[in-house]
Amino acid sequence: MRIDVVSIFPEFFSVLDVSLLGKARQAELVQAHVHDLRQWADVKPDGTPDVHRAVDDSPFGGGAGMVMRADVWGRALDDVLQPGGVLVIPSPAGSPFTQALAADLAQAEQIAFACGRYEGIDARVAEHYEAAGFRVAELSLGDYVLNGGEVAAVAMIEAIARLIPGFMGNAASVVEESHADGLLEYPPYTRPASWRGLEVPRVLLSGHHGMIARWRREQQMARTRLRRPDLLADDDDGVAQ
Ligand code: SAM
Repeated sequence: MRIDVVSIFPEFFSVLDVSLLGKARQAELVQAHVHDLRQWADVKPDGTPDVHRAVDDSPFGGGAGMVMRADVWGRALDDVLQPGGVLVIPSPAGSPFTQALAADLAQAEQIAFACGRYEGIDARVAEHYEAAGFRVAELSLGDYVLNGGEVAAVAMIEAIARLIPGFMGNAASVVEESHADGLLEYPPYTRPASWRGLEVPRVLLSGHHGMIARWRREQQMARTRLRRPDLLADDDDGVAQ
């Protein structure tokens, strides 16, 4: 998979070089290219040269803050988006980014992330690329507001990349985890079996695989009901949505 990121803070993405994501890049499972939006900000909206390389302007209709310009983003994305590529625009006003969406996006050949700042990117950018036939996804990391799309893009890239076959050393670990089947994962334990007066649940030391599997399933249901009842189906029969 090829990932392109456009941002006014390209240095933010040095984190893509570390850990498993760094290894995946080295193994060429993931190719990540980070671009500075300002390289496309050499002209003003009136077409005259802009030595300051501004990427924003005041909002039509008035109001606080600045809006990122469609002309600058258009030049950037015309260069960066490849045929068949998916354009992801992180936004607190987007649809929720979920594990199911991460799995879907892990199939894409190219994803371009457009990282907004200020009051966000001129709404015509998403409209234009959708009309041009690209899949455009405005996605939210959660119901809170960040300063920019960079943190959201890094989180999404990590969630997507770890679902690419070959990324994880142990493929089973992405099957048996929270949100893979609509439930939260059971609580994890390891050695020592006794720690500060807290004991590991006895069933996990029994060696009885059937009982362990049953206990884990019960824990999944109980945790999900307690922490995320929204994830459970209405009939509450253990079948997650
Ligand atoms: N004025 C926008 C609004 O109220 O919807 C918020 C703009 S926010 C200060 C600047 C940028 O941060 C956004 O364009 C987006 O790229 C990013 N951002 C902020 N919160 C986010 C979230 N929850 N999920 C994804 N991106 C977010």
